[in-house]
This record gives sequence, structure tokens and C-alpha cells, in this order.
Amino acid sequence: MLWAGPLLTTNGFVGGWFDPESGKDGEGAPPGPATEGVILPPFRNCHAHLGDTLARGEAPDESLAELVGPNGFKHRWLAEADVAASITAGLREAAGSGTALVLDFREGGKPGLEQLARGATNAGWSVEQGAPQVIPFGRAVGGGPLPGRNAGLPGLKDLAPGAGHRMAIEARVAGGLVALHFSEAEREPVDLMLEHEPDILVHLCSSSEEDLHAIADVGLGVVVCPRSNARFGLQTPLEELLALGIDVGLGTDNGMLCTLDMLAELRFCRETFPDVAPEVLLQLACRGLDETLKKATECDRIVSLPDGRILLSPSRADPLEAVFDPRAKVLATRFTCG
Ligand SMILES: [Zn+2]
Repeated sequence: MLWAGPLLTTNGFVGGWFDPESGKDGEGAPPGPATEGVILPPFRNCHAHLGDTLARGEAPDESLAELVGPNGFKHRWLAEADVAASITAGLREAAGSGTALVLDFREGGKPGLEQLARGATNAGWSVEQGAPQVIPFGRAVGGGPLPGRNAGLPGLKDLAPGAGHRMAIEARVAGGLVALHFSEAEREPVDLMLEHEPDILVHLCSSSEEDLHAIADVGLGVVVCPRSNARFGLQTPLEELLALGIDVGLGTDNGMLCTLDMLAELRFCRETFPDVAPEVLLQLACRGLDETLKKATECDRIVSLPDGRILLSPSRADPLEAVFDPRAKVLATRFTCG
């Protein structure tokens, strides 16, 4: 069965159709029977911690440091939990809400990355069957080597002396990406951050204007997680980042704090950033970190980016209003490997 309705293209919405069998789409009337809906590219979740998804509802109402810092609630929970099952649950939630790509930050060294692989395998489905593609960002533990190619570093103050530099170098040598939580609850020094030569920064809630300019000048990708930031009373600098022309992505952050539902993140962004056009927000959800990730695929630092389409319920006549409507549901997904 084809899909028909408003189809989001690079030039905005046009009347069109999509064939989930062949992956072809077109403008105008569908060449056969079709399900009506709003047809979008799939979402990209540019910052998640799938591992703690099943801790949702258990996280105490504490500060950021007490929740996710070293020896905080999250790390105690991860040490006891069936993390692979938690990852599977997170992936199912992401897939069900139309997300084809997740940049996942995995704690716990090599066993942590193995849990991620197991969580994806346990879900028992392929990208063609609707599984999100995961780009894993690992983290060394106990002075051991960086597991995998990509480094997903915590904030600078949560790193042992020299550990961040070492992991960043190991990621570079392995041809991977370096991502860093930066200036989330407290301002951190830009110079020290730049020494790590990161590709992607996450948060920047406490960065000064000068810091943001310095980050724009070196062309780093930045991921913001507005629902997660709001929980800790932190201000997400989305308007400033966009005004500086920074390559921005949206993330849902810790699975224990926020759902992996990008539609929920989008609705929250629309309320929180009324000055950012809804079309721009939608582009961020569908094509977040586009420059950074495309550059990474060209240099073989990540293998490929998924593509495809998702079909949303046509709950409103205007397609943009339908996307941001709280009743919006993902009716179907068709993900393809890039
Ligand atoms: Zn994070």
C-alpha cells in the first residue's frame, strides 16, 4: 500500500506519495491505493543514553551531578540492571516514534559497548524492518583502552586527569569521532575543550556568548537536548547556535529522564523557542548534525547514514500543525541503509 499526502522535500511540503516497497516517491496523485498521512524523512536522535531507559520513573528528583555524575544514581542503576534489555526498550521506543538514527553514548567501557550490541541484537530486527541504526560512542573505564572507534566523553570535570585527551587520541587513531558533554550545568574552559579536538559537543547551556562564537569559528557540531536541560532548570542556547550558523542536532539525552520520542522533543522545542520557525525545528529533527555527519561519512569515520520515510497521522489539515499536534502518531516507517 502506498502512502499519500503532504510530502516534505528540501523545498518544503508538496502534495505527493511514497512507495514503501520500492522506496520511490513522487509529486501529485499516487499511482495506486494509498494510506493518507504526512510523509517525512525519518528522525535523527543525535544524543541519547539508551542504557538507562528502563530506569525511567525510578530516577530521584536530585541534581544533575547526583543523578548522572560519577557514582550517581544512574551509574549505580547501570551496575545492577539488565542494561541490554534497557537498550532494547529504548531502541523500540525510538523506532516506534520514527527515529532511524541514534547517536548513543555508552558508559562502561568494552562491556558497555557489548551490552549495546546485545540490546540491538535482542530486538531482533534489521534496519529494513524498522530498526534504528545506532552510532556508538564508547568510554574507557579504569585506565583501559577506548572501546570502539568513537569517544563519547562526559564533562571535563568528570574525567580523570589526562583520560579525556587519551580517549580523544585513541578515537582519532581509530578513525572515529570525538564527542564531549560541554558546559552543561557549569561553564567549562573552551581552550581545554579544544585540546580534545572534538567533532561534536553536547549541551552548552552554560557557555558564554564568547564561547559560542569560538565554537562556531572552529565549525564544531552541537547537539542540544531541551527537555533534558529543562529538568535541571538549564537554558538551551538554541536560538544563539542557529544565529551563529552552527550545525545543530537534537537529542533526547538520558532514557531515564526523557522518552526517545522526537515528536515530543519537537513539541517541547516549539513551546520553548517560539522565535525559531517550526520548519527549522522539523529540519533539526530530521537532518540534525547534517554537515558533521555527512563529512564523517565522506571520510569513512562513520559507515553510512540511514534514509527512508515515515508516515504521520494527518491529525490536522496543515502538515506542519499535524507534526506538532500532541495527537501526532507514527503510522508506518520505512528505513533504508544509506
Ligand atoms: Zn548525555
